Amino acid sequence: MPQPIQRTELKTFYYTPVHCPFCGVRVMGADPSDETRITACPHTLFIAHDTAFEYRSPRLDRNLALDGMSEQDVETKWRADTRGIDGFTDRVTLPDAIKVAAYAPAPSAYGSYYGFAPIE
Ligand SMILES: [Zn+2]
Repeated sequence: MPQPIQRTELKTFYYTPVHCPFCGVRVMGADPSDETRITACPHTLFIAHDTAFEYRSPRLDRNLALDGMSEQDVETKWRADTRGIDGFTDRVTLPDAIKVAAYAPAPSAYGSYYGFAPIE
C-alpha cells in the first residue's frame, strides 16, 4: 500500500521562508527583486496556495494522474476535493514525500502548500 504524503503544518506566519528539506534550496521568495519568483529544486513536487497551483512538477502530474490535462481540467479536479487544493495534494503517494502547510494569521487563514520528495 503506498504511503501518503507526510503533512507538516508551520506554527509561524505563512511568509516564513520555506526551504527544501532534502537540499536546502529556498523555493520561493529567494529573489529579492521578485519575491514571487519560484526557484523550485529537483525535489519540489508542487507549490500551491488556496486558489491555485503556482508550480507542478512532472512527478506530481504523474502521481496524481494529471498528465496531459489542461489547466482548467486540473482546477476542476482539485476544486472537487472537499478540502480543496490542500486535500487534493494530500493524495500524493510518492515515497517519503513531505508537505509543508503554512497559514496566514486569522482571520484570513490563507494557506500555502509546498510538496517535496527525494529523487527516485
Ligand atoms: Zn531540494
